[in-house]
Amino acid sequence: MQDDCIFCHIIRGEIPSDQLYQDEQVTAFRDINPVAPTHILIVPNKHLASTEEISQQDEPLVGHLFTVARELAGREGIQESGYRLIINTGPDGGQVVHHLHLHLIGGQKMRYPMG
Ligand code: 5GP
Ligand code: ZN
Repeated sequence: MQDDCIFCHIIRGEIPSDQLYQDEQVTAFRDINPVAPTHILIVPNKHLASTEEISQQDEPLVGHLFTVARELAGREGIQESGYRLIINTGPDGGQVVHHLHLHLIGGQKMRYPMG
């Protein structure tokens, strides 16, 4: 928990969100500014500022983020049509919120190439 972190407050229910899933490791909620019909953020309950703070002991947690993303893609009905999973890191990566989060984006054809 980091006091000045908006996602830490969302995880604890201190700031409202459209929460879709929570367990002892991760929380998932809809992005406040969706870029596609489905735009969900899957975040570790433990505060990690970015992928740069992931250590070997976090490998099961990071894997769980992806399992939950896949589960939510199924619930959203976009497993067949496909989706995009994104993690932004640092200034060049376009990271705005400094609490690790996996974007699950789908429900429309994604633009390509990226970058
Ligand atoms: P980043 O650019 O850091 O990868 O993405 C941060 C994401 O968090 C953005 O897509 C932004 O819309 C979303 N976001 C920022 N503040 C809030 C908030 O208070 N609630 C929710 N649900 N999403 C937020
Ligand atoms: Zn945090």
